[in-house]
Amino acid sequence: MQGYGVLLGVLIALLIGLAAGKAWERYKLVEGRWVDRRRTRQSPHFILGLNYLVAGQVDLAIEQLERASRLDPGAIEIRLVLGNLYREKGQVGRAIQEHQSLLQKPRLNRIEHANVLVCLGLDYRRGGFVDRAVAAFSEVLKLDPENEAALVNLEKLQEDQHQWQEAYVTRQRLAQIAGPPDEPRSQLILAFLEHEMGLQSMKQGDLVEAARRFEAAIDMDRRVLPAFVHLGDVRMLQGDVTAAIAIWEKSMDEAPDRAYLALERFEQAYSKLAMESRFVDLCKRLTAAAPREWRARAALARYLTGKGQPARGLDLLFEALEHNPHALAIHQAVWNTLSAMDLPRQLVARYVEITRQSVFYLDPHVCVRCRYRSTELLWQCPHCHEWNTFIEDRIAPATDTEAEIPSGVTT
Ligand SMILES: [Zn+2]
Repeated sequence: MQGYGVLLGVLIALLIGLAAGKAWERYKLVEGRWVDRRRTRQSPHFILGLNYLVAGQVDLAIEQLERASRLDPGAIEIRLVLGNLYREKGQVGRAIQEHQSLLQKPRLNRIEHANVLVCLGLDYRRGGFVDRAVAAFSEVLKLDPENEAALVNLEKLQEDQHQWQEAYVTRQRLAQIAGPPDEPRSQLILAFLEHEMGLQSMKQGDLVEAARRFEAAIDMDRRVLPAFVHLGDVRMLQGDVTAAIAIWEKSMDEAPDRAYLALERFEQAYSKLAMESRFVDLCKRLTAAAPREWRARAALARYLTGKGQPARGLDLLFEALEHNPHALAIHQAVWNTLSAMDLPRQLVARYVEITRQSVFYLDPHVCVRCRYRSTELLWQCPHCHEWNTFIEDRIAPATDTEAEIPSGVTT
């Protein structure tokens, strides 16, 4: 009977302990009063804040989350989000302050600590404090070596500073963590980074190393067209014109719609070999393959004008204009040629007729990821920092039905 009583006592003690534990978990002493943590999470302010956030109403979201945070100052995630919202609003100093104060909290576990540091690193990056951002992300990686957010941000910071070798190592770590599904994307980025290292070697006059880098980039991913272009440049500098032409031709096979990247180079190389008819053939071939490819026409026009045949050149430019009325370079070439011919009245009238319906704009290259626009083709987007995302936006004349299928675009 006594044994039974002891057992009952132990059981009751256990139950009281459990209830106390639960209560401790749920209630918390804040500024002298007990706060129900679960209620904080269920408070209207928290939910309202999230709703405003989803609706994109940042100011109202901040207001509600600040009230929720006052109910339970210990809720780290609310304050993390609040700090991030300050940053998104451009209040970097306030974001840094909010996130730094979280670091002072006792009993942060390793993952919480890493999460706060990632947010702080983003604040520093936004504020332009590069060294502090690098330090924060490096610190995260000490706590959590596989933290992808820290690695991605570190890589972008390294790229911004042209630390291509360091960015390469960081991307390798990311590729390893992400595993096979991510392989093609990482491979493309690694190839672009390899190409950048080749350009650095080229600037330093080390042509052998530059060529090795460009070849490695091409082996890694054949979509890295600038590696073909610059490998040809190295061959030209080394005096091997035939090899240069061969590599540029390979780039044309890879992406015919970007063959124009090497057009001027082809012109110089063929003239060096006294094979200028090959250049004429090349331009004609490109035009036939893609009737809307105006750059081959413009290049041939420039060549013909240079050879004393401006009227034939002008004809080609007018053809190019009909397909691409918005390309400023063609208009400039037309006016150069017309001036050189002393502005023949009939040809000027034809130009006016062709351009009557034209729409002009200056920045036809657009990033498919963030819609950033640029006047020239870029290999890395200055806005979203993604590689190989630019396509050429075109305003098609109403009669033109040829489909534009850009190559080498990653999604
Ligand atoms: Zn972009």
